[in-house]
Amino acid sequence: KDKKRISKESFRRSLRIFQYVLPYRGKFLLGLLFLFLSSVTFMTFPGLLGRLIGGNEASDSPIDRFFNVDNIDQVALLLLVAFLLQAVFSFMRIFLFADVTERAIAQLRIDTYGHLVKLPMTFFNRERVGELNSRISNDISMLQDTFMTTLAELLRQVIVILGGVSLLFFYSVELTLVMLISVPVMMMAAFFFGKFIRSLSKTTQAELARSQVVVEETLTAIQSVKAFANELLEIRRYNNVVEEVRKVAMRGAKWRGAFASFVIFGLFGAVVLVIWYGVKLRNEGVIGLDELTSFILYSVFVGGSIGGVADIFGRVQKAIGATESLFDIMEEDAEQISNDANAPSLDLKGSIDFEQVTYAYPSRKDKVVLDRLELHVKAGEKIAFVGPSGAGKTTIAALILRYYKATSGTIKFDGKPALDYNISALRNEMALVPQDVILFGGSIRENIEYGRPGAPFEEVRIAAEKANALEFIESFPEGFDTLVGERGVQLSGGQRQRIAIARAILKDPRILILDEATSSLDAESERLVQEALERLMEGRTSLVIAHRLSTIRKVDRIMVLDHGSIKEQGTHDELIALENGIYRNLTELQLLDLN
Ligand code: ADP
Repeated sequence: KDKKRISKESFRRSLRIFQYVLPYRGKFLLGLLFLFLSSVTFMTFPGLLGRLIGGNEASDSPIDRFFNVDNIDQVALLLLVAFLLQAVFSFMRIFLFADVTERAIAQLRIDTYGHLVKLPMTFFNRERVGELNSRISNDISMLQDTFMTTLAELLRQVIVILGGVSLLFFYSVELTLVMLISVPVMMMAAFFFGKFIRSLSKTTQAELARSQVVVEETLTAIQSVKAFANELLEIRRYNNVVEEVRKVAMRGAKWRGAFASFVIFGLFGAVVLVIWYGVKLRNEGVIGLDELTSFILYSVFVGGSIGGVADIFGRVQKAIGATESLFDIMEEDAEQISNDANAPSLDLKGSIDFEQVTYAYPSRKDKVVLDRLELHVKAGEKIAFVGPSGAGKTTIAALILRYYKATSGTIKFDGKPALDYNISALRNEMALVPQDVILFGGSIRENIEYGRPGAPFEEVRIAAEKANALEFIESFPEGFDTLVGERGVQLSGGQRQRIAIARAILKDPRILILDEATSSLDAESERLVQEALERLMEGRTSLVIAHRLSTIRKVDRIMVLDHGSIKEQGTHDELIALENGIYRNLTELQLLDLN
């Protein structure tokens, strides 16, 4: 994942993530306390360990005075106590942080998802599903890591560095100064050097990938390569990229070599310098073996933490990037969804009017898809839309469903502007039978019930019966409980359509929007689906994006759409009779995708 540059603004924005921790601030603070305690106990190890190694002759060391001990048995015992405390503190710290984090992250997941599904269609047209998926899973996991471990580590390392350096001064000011001007400088240098080398190896990988592309291109187009006798050309092309890979790899290798030399000379050199100086001080009797050992151990702790901080900084950077992309979603305007089951129904009669409706998709503002469209559908009327692909049929359906808002003009339901209705209430009056029916993983019953969640089984059954689906459902051993979708039975296209019809029948909408499937079914399925559709359309305002002549013949009016406006309307017979009519031409030339 790419790290984003931390600007003051993005950092400030990311801090908002802490609002999710706020409800658990008590536990969080307690966790911090345990973190502090465990870090402090951790810092006693080098002192105690050094004193233990110093042996019995090293009495009157700082440890002896501080803890009031005078032999190594007592020191060993103290160490054990320290371990024990450390064990308890660590457990509590991890447990508390995990508890807070898991709750906060769960809420964050729920909020993000809850917001996501309420976003308007324009958002989903713009974003890729895979990417959204990754934001919900990867970005949030990244934040989880940050809260649970990175934050704790950062705090611990700050404590270790500050505490460690103070203690080092306590053991020997002289030695500490020697250490501080050599080791951390080298460690930081090593860190940035290492980073540079990693970026070089990335370049090598990228070059390698480029060479793979050449191979792939050549092999997929091998027929053309041979037909044009260009084998030698391809070989030369490949030679060139392979040579480039070698050069880049060698540049990386030189720096890696330099890095190894640097580590051996610089870093180990610095360490040897400190040890040499320490032993010299010891020989002069300035410090004891126990103090020297403790000093070295503290130096290792401090050095490790300094190295770690740089790494943590990188992780915090990533977490800020992740937070930002999550908040990008959170800040998108959602639709005013209110799925209140008890809300009174609108009791629409079902008339629809498009008055001078113009629409252009936000992604392509210059292309007018619907051009001052006038469309008046009476309550209960059945309308078929036909026209070449790209004419705007689907867009009309989408506007009725209020997936999008008209760019200009007004859409009215029962004579009242669509925007004056609550969006959920309005959609509750409609049902959509899409072209490609995608069933949810679950039972057939659940899939039909999706039309009206909580509907009694008897009604689900009746809906299935009216949709001509009962027979095939009951032919499965598990009937309505048969699982469909990825882990269940595969239903045929005709069966899926009938499930979708049953779903719509169960919903019992005033307005029906039907996008007929273009794929042809066998004659028997065709008849069953057609019959079910007729039952479904009965007594409702029905708008059909039609692909079948049999449907077209049944409707009250056919609208012939071209380039975003209605060019002709009437019944099949009326339209066929029009000399030079678009409909007539389209049918004669079989340009209408009817089957
Ligand atoms: P039809 O259903 O009659 O085939 P559509 O309503 O799907 O026509 O499309 C009408 C026009 O709108 C086409 O030119 C299509 O390219 C464009 N269009 C459809 N959906 C989108 C979208 N999500 N973003 C941008 N343009 C779109």
